[in-house]
Amino acid sequence: MQFEDLNLDKRLMKMIDHLGFQQPTEIQQRAIPVVSAGKDLLASSKTGSGKTLAFLLPALQRMFRAKAFSRRDPRVVILAPTRELAKQVYGQLRQLVSSTPYKAVLILGGENFNDQAKAFRKEPVFVVATPGRLADHLEHRHLSLEGLEMLIMDEADRMLDLGFAPQLKAIHDAASHRRRQTLMFSATLDHHQVNAIAGDMLSQPKRVAVGFANEEHKDIVQRFFLVDHLDHKQALLEKVMEEEFQQLMIFTATRSDTDRLAKEFADKGMKTVALSGDLNQNQRNRIMDEFERGIHKVLVTTDVASRGLDITNVSHVVNFDMPKHAEEYVHRIGRTGRAGNKGFAFSFVGPKDWNSFKNVEAFLSQKISFDVFEGLEAKFKGSCLRKRNSLVKNLRPRNMVRKSHRQKIQHLRRETRVFTKVFLLVNRCLCLKR
Ligand code: AMP
Repeated sequence: MQFEDLNLDKRLMKMIDHLGFQQPTEIQQRAIPVVSAGKDLLASSKTGSGKTLAFLLPALQRMFRAKAFSRRDPRVVILAPTRELAKQVYGQLRQLVSSTPYKAVLILGGENFNDQAKAFRKEPVFVVATPGRLADHLEHRHLSLEGLEMLIMDEADRMLDLGFAPQLKAIHDAASHRRRQTLMFSATLDHHQVNAIAGDMLSQPKRVAVGFANEEHKDIVQRFFLVDHLDHKQALLEKVMEEEFQQLMIFTATRSDTDRLAKEFADKGMKTVALSGDLNQNQRNRIMDEFERGIHKVLVTTDVASRGLDITNVSHVVNFDMPKHAEEYVHRIGRTGRAGNKGFAFSFVGPKDWNSFKNVEAFLSQKISFDVFEGLEAKFKGSCLRKRNSLVKNLRPRNMVRKSHRQKIQHLRRETRVFTKVFLLVNRCLCLKR
């Protein structure tokens, strides 16, 4: 299917041309006709699949073609679970609306509340927001959603996992009229809360599932390495960094490792920056921005950057520590292999990572085998294996010795009995002859 087949407005076609996209992705092929027909949509699609444009294009099309319910209220609200994802969606939206009269605002938690209230007074058509902050503004009556035409929830599963159900409900209630169109995107449709909330908020939605979040990502080469300890991880990381890469993201479990690694690489002259959750929003924005512009070659981060960053130059991702939640693994590696590029994901699995690794393996429904770099082999063979091996090692020799002793004695007894019987028989025969 081509973009021409999607019956998109000429202005949108021009934008797509400008972005240089040749063909709609699968989620775009399947979602755009549903949304353009005014239907509610419940869709699952994996990260990096082009889902943002799958909702932005038909949303913009609706702005072009339909008359606004209200001149004052926002027409489209897009909710995202994290500031990073919201920023990414806003970035794509800004590109699209730059040649239109439609204003868009980005409303994030952690940023100046009054400035945001002022932004609503400028009557934006599009609002991209994190749900907590938008619900706060509704409570303060800084905006009305009575004229809302489209409510779009991106990564609804994650919003619910983060406990945003009450805020989603408040936003839904503020815009609860029959003509509203609602789109819900989720990494998986097999999520109890997503289905429950979709039942409340969506009206006869069309379900579209394009691949699953845990499906193998064909553009990403995934390699796993067993490791013994921190120094071993460090040695493996240095080995990975000997490879040619464009930009590299390293995910760690702790802020201290993030800072330590970033400092080490920076000291070696590599353009490296660290990003962790305890930086303020301005600092985070600046770092993300600089990384996006290619000022830094390496970004060392905790899970704050596992979603939302959309940088086609990230060729390598390293899981220095395995993520606690299996879905997070998919989001982390999804920072590479974007928009048809090839990506490489390296994961280090030490004794402390073992349980998380097993969760990832179960989530991906794949039997994962381990790679080795020559000279950097691990003694650690996986905690279950090690337990079983040591059990076998402890038990087998003693058991085997005991068993063979017993067998030998039994065998000897049996032979003695036979020998005695034969001896007695021969003796008897000889006696009879005499
Ligand atoms: P998303 O899944 O929305 O985060 O998009 C992932 C990346 O794919 C972004 O960099 C988009 O700009 C890019 N993209 C979206 N649609 C297309 C398309 N039809 N062809 C090529 N790249 C696309």
